[in-house]
Amino acid sequence: MQAAEHIYIHIPFCHRVCPYCAFYKHTPGATNMRGFVQALVDEAQLRLPCAAAPQTLYFGGGTPSMLSPTHLQLLIDGLQQRLDFSQLREWTLEANPATFTASKVRHWRKLGITRVSLGAQSFLESELLFLGRDHSPADIARSVHLLREEGGMQVNIDLMFCLPNQSAAAWKHSLEQALACRPDHISTYSLTLEPGTPFATLTAPGEETQVQLYSLAHDLLTSADFRHYEVSNYARSASARSLHNLSCWRGEDYTGLGPGACGTVRGVRYENAHDTARYIASLAQGQLPPGSASPLFPAQRRTELIALGLRTDEGIPLSLIPPDRLPILPSLVSEGLCSLSPTRLCPTPRGLLLADELALQFI
Ligand code: SF4
Repeated sequence: MQAAEHIYIHIPFCHRVCPYCAFYKHTPGATNMRGFVQALVDEAQLRLPCAAAPQTLYFGGGTPSMLSPTHLQLLIDGLQQRLDFSQLREWTLEANPATFTASKVRHWRKLGITRVSLGAQSFLESELLFLGRDHSPADIARSVHLLREEGGMQVNIDLMFCLPNQSAAAWKHSLEQALACRPDHISTYSLTLEPGTPFATLTAPGEETQVQLYSLAHDLLTSADFRHYEVSNYARSASARSLHNLSCWRGEDYTGLGPGACGTVRGVRYENAHDTARYIASLAQGQLPPGSASPLFPAQRRTELIALGLRTDEGIPLSLIPPDRLPILPSLVSEGLCSLSPTRLCPTPRGLLLADELALQFI
């Protein structure tokens, strides 16, 4: 099982746990950080071919920016024993505002990190408090400035909408403040009230409000010259699109490393167990971490390619559409949901809003 063009590394540590979050994460507690970093390097040795040359690297979490310069340097030195970084086109690190200093940013830059994705979520104190975040709106602006001035990096700002009782004015404020920071990329995620989290029993805004808030983001960001290229993602220019995420939406293979990470390599989908201690212990014994793996059957792969492709403005090749569904394409075009070229079906901005419903037409 080997693929190496796109690599995701999961760093599951957070200073504190946000009440809506369903990712695999925990506070570091007594975790042996050096042992954790060595385990990541060992997993890379086991999963990746020698001298593999990735095009994208993505450090997600959790809060990867929590790694100290010493531990991050150890991780990169270890990875470079296995990997050739000369073909890297994008290297993203997720960070939370106010969790890094100028010297940390300079170190990231020296390592070669090209892009930082900032978990801002909101520019309103009250919403940040509700979401359990420990930064202020001013921290976000300061952090973007730092990344730009000290790092010269591309910056993404993550924002969250569809909070219970969120008004259009509140959402507009966050969008405008984000634009004022002049990021290269903005991601807008609708809050999901995930089962098993403290937010599970809250009530989400109704569908009409959701559409209103989604459309507000689209209108505001596209009129500020951002391209709406995926349901939740906007880029200032074509080169500011997330190459790593695009590869996932295109259904390309990627290798996941770290506790809770998943990957897809040559027709096999795997997921490492959500257990940092067992992850470290297994790799210390030279074994892959516990987890699950199963073949990705052709029908499942086709379904995923359609569902993911129709979430982006690249759309899907017509060859993925079952012949008996081809006759509905002209009506999707006349309803303003899609555009059609000789080889592809692409959602319009209105089609992106209905991406899931569109996909159901062909699955
Ligand atoms: S900082 Fe991010 S990963 Fe950590 S708990 Fe909050 S939302 Fe989840």
